[in-house]
Amino acid sequence: MSLHDQIAQVIRNYHSKGWSPATSTNYSFKDEKNQIWVSRSGIDKSEFKSEDFIKINSKGEAIEEYVNLKPSAETLIHCLIYEMFPETKVILHSHGINPVLISTIEKTEVTFEGFEIQKGFEGQRTHLSQIRIPIMDNSQEMPFFEKELIYRQSQLTNHCFIIRKHGTYAWGKSLFEAKRHLETLDYLCECKFKMIK
Ligand SMILES: [Zn+2]
Repeated sequence: MSLHDQIAQVIRNYHSKGWSPATSTNYSFKDEKNQIWVSRSGIDKSEFKSEDFIKINSKGEAIEEYVNLKPSAETLIHCLIYEMFPETKVILHSHGINPVLISTIEKTEVTFEGFEIQKGFEGQRTHLSQIRIPIMDNSQEMPFFEKELIYRQSQLTNHCFIIRKHGTYAWGKSLFEAKRHLETLDYLCECKFKMIK
């Protein structure tokens, strides 16, 4: 199965988990020629197909036969992540409710300690370490995210971050790794939120 097909299937699965209501969220990957593909905006994610990815350049502009299609404004966040972490191959963006709920009670970061699933983040070997995941404020202005991400690059060691009352970005060197990061963060946020009395 091509990466186009595999990611389209993941998008439909995530929709069925409630992670992309009302056409929201976006996803991207780099193919074997390092060409970036991003999901088209405005598509119901329950019906997302492999043909719904469009080619973009490193500035987030649609190119070649896709030049007349408008990628979502958030495409620039994907471009920035590829630039900051060049080994990245897949970026997943979720509107799953657990990190969104956590972002209403935590300020600039959320911390986790003692959970076995923390090892889902590449580089984590034990449940005993303390994991810190950055929370950024939401904005419709892409330069805001550019400034914020570059300023906080050293905090992005677990390959993901949360945008307040919005959602999550997670990335990896493969689809398998990016999925693991997104799902680990969602699980941890669900645990933390349910533990609040
Ligand atoms: Zn979003």
